[in-house]
Amino acid sequence: MTGTSCSVDCHRPTGNAAHCTVCHQTFGGVTGFDGHRKEGRCLDPATLGMELRGQIWKRPMDENARLRMAALAVAGPEPVPGTSGNPGGVS
Ligand SMILES: [Zn+2]
Ligand SMILES: [Zn+2]
Repeated sequence: MTGTSCSVDCHRPTGNAAHCTVCHQTFGGVTGFDGHRKEGRCLDPATLGMELRGQIWKRPMDENARLRMAALAVAGPEPVPGTSGNPGGVS
């Protein structure tokens, strides 16, 4: 098949967004898109815990990402590799 069967009502994905040409939902990224596809079928994003923001389904931040963000917030921006400093010098 070529092209899509999308109507003009479909939200046009921008950036990393991914639009499903089967159920015509738009996801914030490939991860969300993959998440709603199970065994060749589309699942309702709402039942997967996704949240509709505007016309785009976004996955809530998972626990790992949340912890990583929290760690980053404490540690600040990552040091630039190659700059002289004190590697491993965590107090
Ligand atoms: Zn779909
Ligand atoms: Zn569509």
